[in-house]
Amino acid sequence: MTGATLEQTENVQSVQQHSYSRRKLFNQCKKAFSFKYIEKVPERKSLAARTGSVVHDFQYQYVNHLYETNQSHDSEKFTQLRDDILADEHAEVREDALNIMNGTLADRTYRWDTKSNVSMEERWAFDSEWNLHTGLDDDAWFNKDPDAVKFRLRLDMVYFENNKLWIQDYKTNWRIMSQSEVENDDQLKIYAYAVSQKYPDITDIVLMLDFVRFDFQRIVEINVADARGVKKMLEKSIEKIESEADFIPEPGQYCDWCTFTSICPTFQRNSDEESVNIELNRPDPITSREQAKELAEKRKHLLIAADQLTEKLKRWAEVNGDIPLSHENLGFHPKSRTSVTDTRKAAGILLNSGMSSTEVWDALTFPKTKYYGLAKKANLSDETRDAFVEENVYTEFSYQKTD
Ligand code: SF4
Repeated sequence: MTGATLEQTENVQSVQQHSYSRRKLFNQCKKAFSFKYIEKVPERKSLAARTGSVVHDFQYQYVNHLYETNQSHDSEKFTQLRDDILADEHAEVREDALNIMNGTLADRTYRWDTKSNVSMEERWAFDSEWNLHTGLDDDAWFNKDPDAVKFRLRLDMVYFENNKLWIQDYKTNWRIMSQSEVENDDQLKIYAYAVSQKYPDITDIVLMLDFVRFDFQRIVEINVADARGVKKMLEKSIEKIESEADFIPEPGQYCDWCTFTSICPTFQRNSDEESVNIELNRPDPITSREQAKELAEKRKHLLIAADQLTEKLKRWAEVNGDIPLSHENLGFHPKSRTSVTDTRKAAGILLNSGMSSTEVWDALTFPKTKYYGLAKKANLSDETRDAFVEENVYTEFSYQKTD
């Protein structure tokens, strides 16, 4: 066994606490997993991750306040909490979080009379004998003793409604997972298994993934009987993680979110100026699929590196102003956008001019999120709502997930 492998194996012994997100990261990229959980490299949270934390924190405090005071809505508290939480945030995080809060969360109302046993920000854990411990505080949850806390779970909101147990999970992702992705995601089964241990009499569990950015909820129902294999599945994956010796970089979709690009050897090699120049100056065409794959990986990493440079430059320009280049300035410049503020009036004028209503109606567009929001307010069934929704497929040269 080489020195490096021996060292890694010794380190691996310290990865004895597990969770859904740890397992997911291990499956996405072993090297990123190793940086985060074995080498414990300090991370600078990406702006997207910071927006996620801010929105979670806000939702927890606001919804918890509504529950404790038995209110469906409280505009004053909403504004005060929002402003307090965002006061010291980075400008981009503040803007993004504000858009979510004002855009989709501000109009939400909550009914508490139909719900019981409501709890929020619950921390649960399985010990090494697979006994479930609930209602843990931070100290107990982060307990370093893997026998006491073997597998951790955090639940944003749990409650009973209509004889079913609901688990609500807030997501600030830019992409809404498809129904089948949610149904096939292990998160649902893991939650269902844990819940079935706490409430042995419950048979139906509903998982609601709440994509707060779009005010769109994916709802999946599961019968606890379908979660029977979870313990075995987790045991298997825990064994795989704990016995892993080669934490190799696995470039892929996760690179977009990875906070370890500056120390990842594959990322470094791919975005290294010299290696890019060699590729650009190579006169021969691509001759094999393997070579094409290597270049596609390199291109992806270069695009990510460009985004990271943009973020750095934005921060500098925010404080210091424009960066002068030879014939242009890079910085924040106002852009004007023209919009029709009173569509009703504009449509009236067009109709009065003799234009046909079909022509005018065709010119009016609904943004999808707005339409979905209105459809929800109008209590339309998904079927009625989607009768007018069409997905336009077009060809774009882009990276696409394969599994
Ligand atoms: S940059 Fe990509 S390959 Fe490297 S550690 Fe991060 S996810 Fe893995």
